[in-house]
Amino acid sequence: MPLNIQKIRSDFPILKQTIYGKPLIYLDNGATTQKPQAVINKEAELYATVNSNIHRGVHFLSDTMTSFYEEARKYVSRFMNAANSSEIVFTKGTTESINLVAFSFGERFVNEGDEIVVSEMEHHANIVPWQMLCERKKAHLKVIPITDSGELIIEEYKKLLNDKTRIVAVTHVSNTLGTVNSIKEIIEIAHNQNIPVLIDGAQAIQHIKVDVQALDADFYVFSGHKVYAPTGIGVLYGKEKWLNEIPPYQGGGDMIKNVSFAGTTFNEIPFKFEAGTSNYIGAVVLAEALKYIEAIGIEQIASYEHQLLVYATQKLKEIDGLKIYGESVDKSSVISFLINNIHPFDVGSILDKLGLAVRTGTHCSEPLMQRYNIVGTVRASFSFYNTKEEIDMLVAGVQKVAKMFG
Ligand code: PMP
Repeated sequence: MPLNIQKIRSDFPILKQTIYGKPLIYLDNGATTQKPQAVINKEAELYATVNSNIHRGVHFLSDTMTSFYEEARKYVSRFMNAANSSEIVFTKGTTESINLVAFSFGERFVNEGDEIVVSEMEHHANIVPWQMLCERKKAHLKVIPITDSGELIIEEYKKLLNDKTRIVAVTHVSNTLGTVNSIKEIIEIAHNQNIPVLIDGAQAIQHIKVDVQALDADFYVFSGHKVYAPTGIGVLYGKEKWLNEIPPYQGGGDMIKNVSFAGTTFNEIPFKFEAGTSNYIGAVVLAEALKYIEAIGIEQIASYEHQLLVYATQKLKEIDGLKIYGESVDKSSVISFLINNIHPFDVGSILDKLGLAVRTGTHCSEPLMQRYNIVGTVRASFSFYNTKEEIDMLVAGVQKVAKMFG
């Protein structure tokens, strides 16, 4: 059944705004998504009725909040099809989830001379924590190259793997190019050599049905704010065997069983990785956001967003001098482009005055900019609440910019 876009749009209060007297056209969903009223209401309702610190109270509110939090964990676990909800660790986002794995996995398994494999299209969040680990352990970072159209070169990837490779960390979907990587194949190739794989799902979970067991991912991470939930909440999925084997990331309350000056014992998973007061409200609201998108249907979302991608690609390509970066066969609803020699900041600033919110710059993927030898791009990223009419406005805006710069 086709999506009722007008009904969906009415769920998002921010979209009713005007910016500089123009209707807001929000095309920066890759950076963060807007929140439906149900999500906004849920957060207010929790603070108004059951807020209380979890896991340490015997009183009613604390008990209720704890059960909501653990229910949310189960919901996320079902959403990703984890084998067990103890494999779901709540973090503050993708960045923290990757740092956690880079630190804890690195402490346990990475030694001098070892190698870690990432790709050329990674977000800084999936590069820098591994570089820091390599520095600490005197290990080496190896990089899977990409083709001009923005696809991983699988033959080169295979050549990088050897008995020194400790982990592979790649993105499911590129935030800059939109490339949807064939992560099942990437995981399978690594597993043939007993190498675990971390998947950065920050740009995938809101667009694609993710089944961590079918993928056989060892770690899969994402951020709540990119999937219609609040900021400051995120998820680390880790296979039970890994989470049990690797040490905690941070020390403090909740992550311990017993503490004495003679020594401390750690809690079981997932609590071992959730030191201190977690964003328990955020976790429950994240589950609410996932319910919202499940009610619409992730397959329906994917199909509608694909139509937007195809339409926008075709329309933008008709503009003289416009070049799209990222033309993979399997692509998510993200378009990075440049027009003539106009600086992306200039394009973005003019579009802003027309009410169009797009992102400009390096998109936290500077190595990718170096790969294409460009200073940055203009990026339009679509959600299921966007429309073809909004894309027409984007196209008209870009044409206006082109004209202004002669
Ligand atoms: N990885 C990818 C692919 C991303 O797009 C982003 C966000 N732009 C991140 C990681 C980092 O996410 P966060 O800032 O929410 O931690």
